[in-house]
Amino acid sequence: MNIKMQCCGLVILFVIGCFFQQQKRVRIYTERIFVWTYRMVAVCVSLDILSLVAIDSMDRLPLMLVDVACKLYNTSLVLVVMLGLLYAAVDAYPDEIYVKFLRGSIAAAAAEAVCIFLLPIEYVTDGAGKFLYTFGPSIYATYISGLIFMVATVVVLVRRREYINSRRFEAVSLWLVCWLGSSLIQLCIKELLLVGFGATMGVLVLYVKLENPETYIDRQTGMFNSNALTYFLRERHEKGQHFPILVLVLEDYSNIGLDKEEVEAIRLEVEDCLQRTGAWLFRKSEDEMVMLFAEGTPADAAKDMLVRRFSETWGRSRVVLHPGWISLSDAQLLADSDELGRALRHVRQDVRQVLGRYDVEITGEVLEQMRKEKRVERLLLDGIENDRIEVYYQPIYNTKEQRFTCAEALVRIYDGENHLIRPSVFIEVAEKNGMILKLGRIVFEKVCRLMKEEHPEQYGLRYIEVNLSTVQCADKDLADDYISILKKYDLPPERINLEITESASLLAKETLQRNMERMMDYGIRFSLDDFGTGQSNLNYIMDMPVDIVKFDREMSQAFFENDKAHFVMNAAISMVHGMEMKTVSEGIETEEQLRKMEDMGISYIQGYYFSKPLPQDAFLSFLKEKNGADEVAV
Ligand code: C2E
Ligand code: MG
Ligand code: MG
Repeated sequence: MNIKMQCCGLVILFVIGCFFQQQKRVRIYTERIFVWTYRMVAVCVSLDILSLVAIDSMDRLPLMLVDVACKLYNTSLVLVVMLGLLYAAVDAYPDEIYVKFLRGSIAAAAAEAVCIFLLPIEYVTDGAGKFLYTFGPSIYATYISGLIFMVATVVVLVRRREYINSRRFEAVSLWLVCWLGSSLIQLCIKELLLVGFGATMGVLVLYVKLENPETYIDRQTGMFNSNALTYFLRERHEKGQHFPILVLVLEDYSNIGLDKEEVEAIRLEVEDCLQRTGAWLFRKSEDEMVMLFAEGTPADAAKDMLVRRFSETWGRSRVVLHPGWISLSDAQLLADSDELGRALRHVRQDVRQVLGRYDVEITGEVLEQMRKEKRVERLLLDGIENDRIEVYYQPIYNTKEQRFTCAEALVRIYDGENHLIRPSVFIEVAEKNGMILKLGRIVFEKVCRLMKEEHPEQYGLRYIEVNLSTVQCADKDLADDYISILKKYDLPPERINLEITESASLLAKETLQRNMERMMDYGIRFSLDDFGTGQSNLNYIMDMPVDIVKFDREMSQAFFENDKAHFVMNAAISMVHGMEMKTVSEGIETEEQLRKMEDMGISYIQGYYFSKPLPQDAFLSFLKEKNGADEVAV
């Protein structure tokens, strides 16, 4: 009787079981399926041995008993393959579909077991009566059943690839290889009874790749890690459990330079405070510890206790920590288990900029804001990737010459459904995530292309104003980039006027100055945009080497509505003109407003009265119609 392989299998299973039992476990659903798979493989290998013993004693035992032992073994084999399928599908489908999947698989396995039991089994012996292998309809039914589950597993792996955790994908693929390998070998060399051992190797692969509890443990502290947190959150979330989350942030973690013992001391302090609350503690990243409290447990009490502990020196540490706190009163606010990570990044980025220290609550509004930003980011990315960035042009009226001698380029994005999205939706987000650098360059390039290819100067257009974001002004490569684009299109610099705002010099004054000097040396001129908003400073105009000052719509409106604003506007205009700069009034919508502005002696008028921003072709037609293709006034 050859049961060496099966005995090896049992020893391997025993060792895995010992390791698994000893380690701290996160007790999530996948772990439970693994435990079931482990048990079933143990049963399967044991039944393998039992059936071989029964066959060996065939002359002494009733044939039916031998048949039952063999068929039980075959059924257990099919169940093991079915568990492999359930294990692969656990991430792949949402909860309610998974439950249907589970029921369907169990029903299929039950039907297959009935077939295996009803169909006859035959035994092949050598000339001397020594048993070689089993065959016959029951065995074929076993192979076909196993194959059906394997094919289903492959289908799940391939079709739902993007939803399956990559480690699970690899582990289940390897497990399939073990099964297929051992089944094929057994099919070719029938005397080599390898399938049961193949199942054991499959479990070993799952353990090493995924279910080794160390996968969920932070090596430095022994706490549960972010992997464990993701699975844990997902399960609670899918069950619809409401529970508070508290995050302890060790700001400046890398600079403080905590050693291993100090981190360990923090862990002990935190665990000590959490003892009475029964909360789960995770180390999400080096400087973030996440606490998940049981439903209804007041996280505030634990936080108060922790705050008291950390307000003085703790453990054997030489450092006084000033931990920050981010709390979420109900985890059900999160759309999915990964959203906690995104929300933490979002909050930390914002808070660091504004407060410098943390004690914030992630509320529904914060999450909504974050999701909105995410959607806008997608819109920007899609827009850039699929060339859906559009530049609109708003003609600007020259009051002295009574024609349109310049225009402002204003960016728009078409979303996937062909809706035109205005900059108020995306500029702020693009500035925050840095995409404005790319977006700005695209707009600039499109403007240069229009100038080069359509020659709008033939209709009297001298230059186009292009907005520069404060973030672009702080980019040290800006001047080189823009000059090289002008050179690429062989465009004279007088065709471009760049609009900057006062806030640009607050962010990075020196870089802005260097950029401006480089570009002015090349011949590009500048305007000061949005004058009259926020805390505009008259002194600022004196410092800034600009040619044009643009009065914001807000300022123009105030002028029409308020008598005193009249004096302010008057003073501002004479001051700007006195410094030999031109003025533009934005947001002029009626003829009356136009007349008043002309009376004030403003140099240019921009507003809906003349035209809204227009797409390129409509803009060129507008110029042709209003200015005519007359003398080239350059
Ligand atoms: P801005 O540079 O002050 O541009 C003027 C804004 O006022 C434009 O809004 C324009 O459509 C609007 N406007 C002009 N005349 C009237 C009027 O008579 N009535 C009203 N109600 N509005 C008028 P838009 O196109 O939505 O742009 C808003 C802001 O987005 C711009 O303000 C600018 O700060 C920014 N922006 C637009 N394009 C770009 C760009 O390519 N790069 C950067 N960095 N910012 C841009
Ligand atoms: Mg502007
Ligand atoms: Mg403006």
